[in-house]
Amino acid sequence: ADTEKGTLKEVKATCCYCGVGCGVIVQSDGKQVVGVRGDPDHPANFGRLCTKGSTLHLTARPALQQQARALYPELRTTRNSLRKQVSWDETMDFIARKFVGTIREHGPDSVGFYISGQLLTEDYYVFNKLAKGLIGTNNVDTNSRLCMSSAVAGYKQTLGTDAPPACYEDFEHAQVIFIVGANPAYAHPVLYRRIEEARRKNPSMKIIAADPRRTDTAREADLFLPILPGTDVALFNGMLHICMQEALIDPAYIDAHTEGFAELKNTLADYVPKVVAEICGISEEDLFRAARWFGESKASLSLYCQGLNQSSSGTAKNAALVNLHLATHQIGRPGAGPFSLTGQPNAMGGREVGGMANIISAHRELANPGHRAEVARLWGVDEVPAKPGKTAVEMFEAVNRGEIKILWIACTNPAQSMPEQKLVREALKKAELVIVQEAYKTTATVDYADVLLPATTWSEKEGTVTNSERRITRFKPVLSKPGEAMHDWEIVIDFARRYERLSGREKSIFPYKTPEEIWNEHRESTRGRDLDITGLSYKILEEQGPQQWPFPEGASSGRKRLYEDGAFPTPSGRARFVSTVFKPVAEPVDIRYPFHMLTGRLRDQWHGMSRTGTVAQLFSHAAEPAVVLSQEDMEKSLIKQGELVHVTSRRGTQIFTAMAGDDMRAGQAFIGMHWGEEYVSGRGYKGEGTYGVNALTCPAIDPSSRQPELKHAAVRILKAELP
Ligand code: SF4
Repeated sequence: ADTEKGTLKEVKATCCYCGVGCGVIVQSDGKQVVGVRGDPDHPANFGRLCTKGSTLHLTARPALQQQARALYPELRTTRNSLRKQVSWDETMDFIARKFVGTIREHGPDSVGFYISGQLLTEDYYVFNKLAKGLIGTNNVDTNSRLCMSSAVAGYKQTLGTDAPPACYEDFEHAQVIFIVGANPAYAHPVLYRRIEEARRKNPSMKIIAADPRRTDTAREADLFLPILPGTDVALFNGMLHICMQEALIDPAYIDAHTEGFAELKNTLADYVPKVVAEICGISEEDLFRAARWFGESKASLSLYCQGLNQSSSGTAKNAALVNLHLATHQIGRPGAGPFSLTGQPNAMGGREVGGMANIISAHRELANPGHRAEVARLWGVDEVPAKPGKTAVEMFEAVNRGEIKILWIACTNPAQSMPEQKLVREALKKAELVIVQEAYKTTATVDYADVLLPATTWSEKEGTVTNSERRITRFKPVLSKPGEAMHDWEIVIDFARRYERLSGREKSIFPYKTPEEIWNEHRESTRGRDLDITGLSYKILEEQGPQQWPFPEGASSGRKRLYEDGAFPTPSGRARFVSTVFKPVAEPVDIRYPFHMLTGRLRDQWHGMSRTGTVAQLFSHAAEPAVVLSQEDMEKSLIKQGELVHVTSRRGTQIFTAMAGDDMRAGQAFIGMHWGEEYVSGRGYKGEGTYGVNALTCPAIDPSSRQPELKHAAVRILKAELP
């Protein structure tokens, strides 16, 4: 409940950064946010906040709002003119006419929507309905494609649906926590604190960390496996090979609840420990130790994130890890299970409403005619188109080919976050119309906008988000809308109604007046599905606090943990083993590009820094963009600490400060993902092509999840400052 404290008003909300989904209590004096503290009652964090969350109020200061916020609609009608402030009415009319004209001439697939895991579930829902229901295109994808789509594909292939089976409470029951392709000490700090606390209470708990870098998470592990980049599938197959050899699998569980083990066994025969240790660059002894700890423990929990997902083998990596859990029956029990951590605050909510190019509402399949008919009925439209839409990288490629002519981007910054920036920026120049719906006018993508639609943001919005453990939190606004900014869902509905009028539709399919009405329709779409929330309401979320799904009608609480009964949502009711084969990184190192470039998050920054970049104290941990190398490589290349170096991949060259780090293996280089052109240019070396690390990253995508390999590229590194 919201409270008055002296003259200050306190309202419960969530942190808008990572997928931990911490509850915050926001303090305001009615005009501005003056403080935040952790919500002691929120089950994600019980009052804790990390450096980013505890400085949230500093990102909402009025001076900053004036400087950085998009406050008024802006429009340019010709490409070479400047955008001018115009009325909402004129702006939305212009866009609606452009859409109708373009679609009449070129068809519905000539437009595309690129949205964000930072939108609320209600925003996501109406964007999806607008594209797939009203306009008739599946060209709606999201920056969650860069974040979680391999986890989605991995869960669906093995467990039958996109549902993380574990919960945060499982940290307290786990005997082994296997952290792979994740650095929660930096990227999910409050969860990491919970793991540390669980370990204090249970000293026999063991932590295994597998990562090419000795991250802060890896340093605290009982066993660190410094695997070579991209070798995760070999590692998981090798661990399962050993578990089979040493009778650490559970044949009764495999027989009763799974299918496909015979085929997998054939595949695993090749993953003998000696070969696996060589592929992964670790000792055989450590490989055996990891497999035994995992297989022998009463409860093994795996935590994973972008190190598995952002890969051209992302789906196989996810599936291979789930195989390991299924064969050893480390799933569906307290403290056991594969548990993907979400990067963004509402990547889960976006997945729930089907806000991606290849899925539809409530975890339904686009390829399933029955599922499409169900959604069409719910939405009151003739059909949902069958043709899959363009996913993130493909969408920008389609713009470059002239197939997509209008691009609507909401709450994300592809001019900084997509791989192979040169092509993305070419697409943004080439599109006939670029609409950017944003809270901040400082993002690199806004530079390319023909139309800027000012949107509300954290502390101003009402709606729901779902965190990594399937927990839905509802919150209300603390502040009123600044300037002429509108809520994201309101912008979509305003446009949809104009589009409906211009295209001759008499009855609107967007009748909503509040986010609650949108959410209620979403709730109905989940009836009978694995994520059924028909027993929930805004009222329950407000009165009883955040709840996990599923929460079907008649339930008194959500389900903590999935698959405890051994039944899986597949046609046979059995989980499926997938025969996964190790494939090396898409871009191996060679004599011209001899370094493995790895990317990742820094502790105190978030994404492209449009918010965290406004808080001075968040720069005390890392003040400028840097490439981190091993001491050995620094010495070999005669590079001194703090010197500038050119980092060159097959797609371009960027300049960074070189730093030595004891977390790095020789032959590897690490660059934080956050820095964009504003910060690169801050050192005075801005020029055409100074885009930050994504000028260098690799656009290769996973064949199933379509997620790009943002984590790895081959580069060379040369001194920029010659003596
Ligand atoms: Fe926010 Fe994530 Fe930090 Fe929690 S852990 S305060 S959600 S950034």
